[in-house]
Amino acid sequence: MQSMIQIICAILFAPLATLVVHAAEVRDYPLSKIAAHTYVIHGPLGYPSVENQGFMNNPGFVITKDGVVVIDPGSSLQVGRMLLKQMRTVTKLPVTHVFNTHVHGDHWLGNQAIVEAYPMAKLIGHPGMIKKLNEGEGDQWVSIMENSTKGFTKGTRAVVPSIPSIEGSSYKIGGMTFRVYSPENAHSHTDIMIEAVEESVVFTGDNVLNQTIARMDDGNFKGSIAACDRLAAIRAKHYVPGHGPSGDASIVTNYRNYLATLFNDVKQQYDAGKADFEMKAGIAAKLKFFSGWDRFDNELGKHISLAVMEIEASI
Ligand SMILES: [Zn+2]
Repeated sequence: MQSMIQIICAILFAPLATLVVHAAEVRDYPLSKIAAHTYVIHGPLGYPSVENQGFMNNPGFVITKDGVVVIDPGSSLQVGRMLLKQMRTVTKLPVTHVFNTHVHGDHWLGNQAIVEAYPMAKLIGHPGMIKKLNEGEGDQWVSIMENSTKGFTKGTRAVVPSIPSIEGSSYKIGGMTFRVYSPENAHSHTDIMIEAVEESVVFTGDNVLNQTIARMDDGNFKGSIAACDRLAAIRAKHYVPGHGPSGDASIVTNYRNYLATLFNDVKQQYDAGKADFEMKAGIAAKLKFFSGWDRFDNELGKHISLAVMEIEASI
């Protein structure tokens, strides 16, 4: 009897399992209109997982009169397809350009979906990002996403930008201006931040997060603090963080406070002769404002160790 039930279950659920693994898109998330021609899908928070289908960034786009400019189309072919589906509810124009803010795969693996639908789209990224991805990091990100979603992102491959963009680059696209800022040694050493000038919107990449804390494994605290200062000086109306809700300049200030409070306190305690494991309780108390933010408990200890390493490297 039991084996009969097992057989029936196997027959019933096998097609479902296949369907899940080969899903064409992630589940739908709504578009938020944040300026006259600018839309963002705010992805769920957290690390890539089966539950969030690997989707956790903020794909955005700006509709110009000639076509659509996409910023960070997400972590997989399946996220990119969902983005295009939502985009088509507000415009039928083709995607002409894609900016990728940095090398981390949760931001750019959706390029594949854009090129699949619009083969002429130009893909733009930091020269260091292009180099790293072509040297093998692209395939590593494909594997990371596939493993952390237990195969949901299967079929995704690395479609690497071909147009390098550096500090001060400016693009006139369909009557709009896109200005690029490239802070050195900030979140990933491959960062570009994109200002849609007429929209007064800045896409910060992972140099600013909101309601969640960045991995800093490839980052630099001092450079990240400087990147926040740079962003605040633009005085834009709207900032789109790499993860978490968009907002005004206060989201930049908040995130800068996290980075600066942590780094300055680590420096003080380091100078007082404390080891990193002795610093955590005092620093956590000073960062109470952020204690409810996603990943805070996971990243804080690591951030303290990384800040100590950064201080030691500068001595
Ligand atoms: Zn990142």
